[in-house]
Amino acid sequence: MNQFQSALEQLGRAVVVKPFDSTLIERLSVPEREVRVSIPVLMDDGTTKLFEGYRVQHSSLRGPYKGGIRYHEQADNNEVRALAFWMTLKCAIANIPMGGGKGGVTVNPKLLSKTELERLSRGFVRMLYPVFGPHVDVPAPDVNTTPEILGWMADEYALLTGDTTGAAFTGKPVGRGGSEGRGQATGMGGFYVFEALKEFLHLPGECRVVVQGMGNVGGNAASIFQKHGHKIIAISDSRGGIVNESGLDIAAVEAYKKETGTLVGFPGSRTISNTELLELLCDVLIPAALENQITKENASRIQTKLVLELANGPTTPEADDILLARGIPVIPDILANAGGVVVSTFEWEQNLKNEHWTEEVVLQKLQQLLAKEAVHVWKHATELKTDLRRAAFVVALSRLDATLRKAQ
Ligand code: GLU
Repeated sequence: MNQFQSALEQLGRAVVVKPFDSTLIERLSVPEREVRVSIPVLMDDGTTKLFEGYRVQHSSLRGPYKGGIRYHEQADNNEVRALAFWMTLKCAIANIPMGGGKGGVTVNPKLLSKTELERLSRGFVRMLYPVFGPHVDVPAPDVNTTPEILGWMADEYALLTGDTTGAAFTGKPVGRGGSEGRGQATGMGGFYVFEALKEFLHLPGECRVVVQGMGNVGGNAASIFQKHGHKIIAISDSRGGIVNESGLDIAAVEAYKKETGTLVGFPGSRTISNTELLELLCDVLIPAALENQITKENASRIQTKLVLELANGPTTPEADDILLARGIPVIPDILANAGGVVVSTFEWEQNLKNEHWTEEVVLQKLQQLLAKEAVHVWKHATELKTDLRRAAFVVALSRLDATLRKAQ
């Protein structure tokens, strides 16, 4: 099953629990607009290379399209379409005035020099700026796209259009229109959702946590959980992971990786594969990398009390069934990782109002919003006697449905 089919399968499962107007379901089953571009990039050796880029604008029912841009070798239109669909639902669950979109470039950014990366990022905007804008479509970071990259994009957009609000892109560097707290927002948001639901989940006070992924989301989540008294017993990057049952010091792990370029050999740890990491005995398993990690192949071997999805789409629908049958709750991506887009929306609002909020204000607003919506989803799950993913879909669909009715 491809990514988008899998996403539609989730939609189909949710409407069994609570039916919705067929017009709404039809509209959500097809993106409103998709653009594919070919970006010429001048390479450092003087040659020009073409890169394939995408922007999928899934739904503008609740506001401008909103969602990140991914740089990845495996990024393609189908994956981006699924990611855009999840953004529509995510923004509705977070109750922010945004629709859903997503972008991608098929590239391994680690193989580009910094100047090539800048030319690619500016090239992406040159090809797509007519469909972007503060009130049209507001891109942001995703896998492998940093504040620096978003800063180049926002700059290119301002040069091309004369728009100097900065509000057409979020996740920019602080000091260049970026919001305080955006860097750690997805990890922080995941933690706030976890805290809000912890008492219902009967988890120990000090949890043993396993994190898959050490990018912006996984790295920050690991530090945040550790800072709040939990034990990170394993963490990985794309090449593999490390375990230490007595707990890893995440700041030291990050420093080690920065120095050596790898996690392997971190003092006191043993090396494991990403497959083994997912099957470790723990209290909280946090997939924070890519899609399709928990599948029908390994779901029966997962040994956690909770899956907190900080990646998008890490669990397949078949794996959801297996985990549900085994009594392992999954806090779904569209709720658990909404912190990023929420703080992006705060950034957009600050740019439009020409304001700059403190980190304390940003995080407090994020915490209040996510705690409220997490409990709201939990109540729906209890009332509908269903899992948290179906309940989260129902919450999102109810809000989208209300908007559609108003518009008709
Ligand atoms: N890429 C992030 C996500 O998947 C953030 C999107 C945003 O900030 O607009 O939610």
